[in-house]
Amino acid sequence: MSSGFLKGTPDAPRVLGMSLKDRSAILPTGRGADASYWWDTKTGNFVTSTYYVRELPPWVRAFNDRKAPDTYAGRTWTLLARPETSVRQLPADHTQALYDGIYGSPFGNDLLVSFADSALTAERLGQRGATDLLSVSFSSNDSVGHTRGPDSAEVRDIAVKTDRVIGRLLSRVDRLVGLQHVLVALTADHGVAPVPELSKERGLPGGRITSNDLFGPIQQVLESKYGQGKWVLSTAGSSPYLNYELMAKLRLDPAEVRRTAADAAAAVPHVARVYTRDQLQRGEVSTDRIAQRVLRGFNEQRSGDLEILLDPYWMRQVPPGTTHGTPYNYDAHIPLILMGARIKPGEYSDHVALNDLAPTIATLVGVEIPAGSSGRVLTEALRSLVTPTARPVR
Ligand SMILES: [Zn+2]
Repeated sequence: MSSGFLKGTPDAPRVLGMSLKDRSAILPTGRGADASYWWDTKTGNFVTSTYYVRELPPWVRAFNDRKAPDTYAGRTWTLLARPETSVRQLPADHTQALYDGIYGSPFGNDLLVSFADSALTAERLGQRGATDLLSVSFSSNDSVGHTRGPDSAEVRDIAVKTDRVIGRLLSRVDRLVGLQHVLVALTADHGVAPVPELSKERGLPGGRITSNDLFGPIQQVLESKYGQGKWVLSTAGSSPYLNYELMAKLRLDPAEVRRTAADAAAAVPHVARVYTRDQLQRGEVSTDRIAQRVLRGFNEQRSGDLEILLDPYWMRQVPPGTTHGTPYNYDAHIPLILMGARIKPGEYSDHVALNDLAPTIATLVGVEIPAGSSGRVLTEALRSLVTPTARPVR
């Protein structure tokens, strides 16, 4: 929009997102992107949506035709630190089992960076005098993290290999564009909890709670107080959606039903806090960081009727894996690394948040900060464009 060129015309900036995971390709580039590509593990092909383009561009079709994923068939994931250790061997057949295996291993990132290579050349990103944006999201790290946990040798291995594959991507960008013309931002959308069984071994709190243990008591209390019916219609994370038709039929006050449900949830062992949608709508939560994070994560139209926060290190996740999604620091801790000519080198240990990235990038490339952005510009990490000149004081 800021360039003044019509989207899709030769001189217009290009905005491309890519990932093996659909939402990780789509969300970082927003609704105005030229295209986002993700990987279909049923076919082993990169795909997009007709929202962006009517058909795949020739370079994507050519990439798919080369069948790069099939070259991983039968390959073994071994650890860099212990090459004799086989983590898993990928299936030999060119089927979804192979593609799922690639997704859940460091090979997924290799494949993604090969795809990014093709995009850089074919779309001539950064090589046309316009400011382009390429977002590459490494979803295999999330998959390995969920299965093995953050303290595992496998997560360490994929982290080291991700560093190398990013190096491969950056040298390619350097050859094509020159890194002095490029702004690089590396970040993540969440942290993760340690595997509860490991926490226990370490003498720390933590454990698993089933959906039934958490939501069952809400159903029971509402049933005994107001009568038979399916009171909890569905859940998202640890947030239940209550039955409003039933409330209307029984002429109940929804706010009172939500309060009753909240009391029931609060009585469940290892529930730390419960907020009703009424409290969150009115902003009636404490001022501490955890409560403020719950409040910022609440969406009036889409969130459930209660936000239930378990004790730290507790999760609703079947063994053996782990997960993320709480406002606790271990889940909210992300890397945020900037590199480029306008970046002031240094380590900054102050509190920052992921939503500081969009206004910072917008400022660096000289475009308007996105409409709903609530982050701040990370001015401490920016070099000034203006060199102050001494002027005599009169
Ligand atoms: Zn995840």
